[in-house]
Amino acid sequence: MKNLKLICTNCGKEYLIDKFKVRCDECNEPLEVEEIKVGKIRNENILTQSIFDRYRDFMPFSSFDNSLTLSEGFTPLVKPNRLAEEIGIKDVYFKNETQNPTWSFKDRGTSACIIHAAKIGYKRIGTVSTGNMAPSVAAYGRKNNLQTYVLVNSNIPDEKLNPIAIYSPHLIKVDGDYGNLYYKSLEIGKKNDIYFMNSDVPFRVEGSKTIAFEVCEQLNFEMPDYVIVPTSAGGNVRGIEKGFREFENAGLIKTIPKIIVAQALGCSPIVKAFDDGKETIERFSNPDTIAHAIENPYPPSGNQVLRMLKRNEGLAVAVNEEEIINAQRLQAEEGIFGQPASAVALAALIKLREQNKIKENDSVVCIVTGSGLKYTAAFKKHDLEASDCKLENLSHMLKKEKS
Ligand SMILES: *Cc1c(COP(=O)(O)O)cnc(C)c1O
Ligand SMILES: [Zn+2]
Repeated sequence: MKNLKLICTNCGKEYLIDKFKVRCDECNEPLEVEEIKVGKIRNENILTQSIFDRYRDFMPFSSFDNSLTLSEGFTPLVKPNRLAEEIGIKDVYFKNETQNPTWSFKDRGTSACIIHAAKIGYKRIGTVSTGNMAPSVAAYGRKNNLQTYVLVNSNIPDEKLNPIAIYSPHLIKVDGDYGNLYYKSLEIGKKNDIYFMNSDVPFRVEGSKTIAFEVCEQLNFEMPDYVIVPTSAGGNVRGIEKGFREFENAGLIKTIPKIIVAQALGCSPIVKAFDDGKETIERFSNPDTIAHAIENPYPPSGNQVLRMLKRNEGLAVAVNEEEIINAQRLQAEEGIFGQPASAVALAALIKLREQNKIKENDSVVCIVTGSGLKYTAAFKKHDLEASDCKLENLSHMLKKEKS
């Protein structure tokens, strides 16, 4: 590991980086790897490089084994021109994170955690998730022959269970207070030498930095005005913002985009605290949204996301179910099928544009966090059609319109 520290995001207390440590002993807020100040992009062949090779100056590892990874990252930045015109905005981009090994951005952070776990000698890993983190950790754990413990909610439906089970982890349905399991698992992991790579652990945040790095390169270092991130625990948005900060430190970019935290109205603890001008979040009661991947009522990085937004002069915005479904359809019309949670970014953009908080001349990047095929139940919210035709009538049906 490089000579860096883990630092408490709230009180600044320092910890060793070669230990598995997630939260501060003093204030219980999340830890973060010390900011990197200098570095350059290792501009080699991306067909043979990993994200950790290319951005190694900005990663906490001094060396690592690429064979631990699954070649995550290097995802496309797509420009939906028709949609931009419809919304009435100059530039919109979709960062298509559905093109990761297990179809969500989670793979970037899982990979960073796997490298860290290997460095500091862990043979057992785990996570607490019913969403995309579970299959991601299961896949990387199996590939690397680690004892992998995935703790899921006891009422998890089969269509979510099987895409985790296929990687054959120790898959455990936990009967009890699932909401508290994030903290419980860290405790249990400490006792039993299991590296619980939960949603916002410091190395998961390090992995998410690479989203920002790629966006910088893909936009030729001309920064967008806004980056909109569907947010639940807060690990991803923290990583993206940190990535921009580190590229600014290194002189690679001149400004940092404003960050917009997007949540579903049905589970929006960060937006609520942000709107109320509070410094800490409160547990959101009775969460209910189709955007299950971002349905965390008590985000472990919630307070840090509020602090980050203050420094960044960012925004937090919530969108309702109808807006989410509508955005999912609009995104699909541009060829990108994200899960409802991922459509929350576009829904937020449309809303902020309508309110004229985002202006016509602004440029905006929406992070499409995970694949639509992860949640096929959303199909029934759309009017989906197919037509029938007898083969002998097919030519007639497809005949050219006379012009
Ligand atoms: C995990 C996840 C998020 C939220 O990321 P956090 O780091 O928990 O804030 C958003 N969208 C999808 C698809 C996810 O899987
Ligand atoms: Zn602290």
